[in-house]
Amino acid sequence: MNFEFATAARIRFGPGVVREVPELARRLGRRVFLVTGRSTGRALPVAQALETAGLPSVTFPIPGEPTTEDVLLGVRTAKQENAEVVISCGGGSAIDAGKAIAALLTNPGDLLDYLEIVGRARPLAQPSAPFIAIPTTAGTGTEVTRNAVLASPAHRVKVSLRSPLLLPRLAVVDPELTYDLPPAVTASTGLDALTQLIEAFVSCRANPMTDALCREGIRRVARSLRTAYRLASAANAASPARSEELKTARADLALASLFSGLALANAGLGAVHGFAAPIGGMFAAPHGAICAALLPHVMRANVHALRQRAPESDALSRHKEVARLLTAEEHATAGDGIVWVRELVRELQVPPLSRQGIAEAHVDELVDRAIQASSMKGNPIVLTAEELAEVLRSAL
Ligand SMILES: [Zn+2]
Repeated sequence: MNFEFATAARIRFGPGVVREVPELARRLGRRVFLVTGRSTGRALPVAQALETAGLPSVTFPIPGEPTTEDVLLGVRTAKQENAEVVISCGGGSAIDAGKAIAALLTNPGDLLDYLEIVGRARPLAQPSAPFIAIPTTAGTGTEVTRNAVLASPAHRVKVSLRSPLLLPRLAVVDPELTYDLPPAVTASTGLDALTQLIEAFVSCRANPMTDALCREGIRRVARSLRTAYRLASAANAASPARSEELKTARADLALASLFSGLALANAGLGAVHGFAAPIGGMFAAPHGAICAALLPHVMRANVHALRQRAPESDALSRHKEVARLLTAEEHATAGDGIVWVRELVRELQVPPLSRQGIAEAHVDELVDRAIQASSMKGNPIVLTAEELAEVLRSAL
């Protein structure tokens, strides 16, 4: 056994902890650069708290999934404003953009110097500017990971900026910020967290620390994602429900998302995320919806390939354990787990990939690109191009 576990320097979790942000930020600097999603509304509690505390801040919204241009503009603006602390408050896009902006505020040269695949992939040399990540969705776990995913429109591809120096100084995970998420976002982000937990758990790089996080996270998604989705739909139809049931479900999902980030940053992922990278670069579909559409098919392909080519592999018993955690049935088989996931994806109305514009004509190119993706290295068994094509076709 030999592993490393790296994460954000500090994590604050709990309903209402977002109100501590001004005090925590003040220790890191005075002028705040606040990166948000497209609608700045979700970051309003943070912006107001900073204002009340007398900390000057400039708000910088990211219109969609972050591009290399967004980051360059962010760095220029933050420098003009003499920003000392970068705070991201939003979904995965805002947090990834903030990570990259904080890194380029202190590292000299061009963004391309540091990007993998489309750039020179040089390592960052200087610690990032102080960076605080505050997720407003419960899905990506990017508040505790060491990479930022950026779209390079010129190359039609998503690439990562990767470095331990990207780990946020502080992650503030407040379930209250997710109480109002609409049903579709609840579904896609929650299923992304579940995918990340399952992939990290069966990953060939899993270790006992990530295992513990995955077990706990999978259990919480299994018991709370349906509830959160149902209550989100109900809240939209009537007045917003603030029941204890909603609070418990949202806290479960926020924690599961955090755990998924801790796990994936240290154990890697698998074929679902191997596909999600190139698909995300070529199609404008929500990351979580792509992952959810693929998850049951990748699980089936992995179990099938493991039984055929590596029947002694520990990954087979891990798939069985996933099934037990999901179904809460002591005697569940790997197949029961796959059925459970397929049912959940259907109930949460995740569209098949064909509805995102993906067709048979894209299969070969996507398989070629997925094989090269870094996430593919964590998959518990090497899937052949034929097997990967079969997975993709089943998810269309
Ligand atoms: Zn993901």
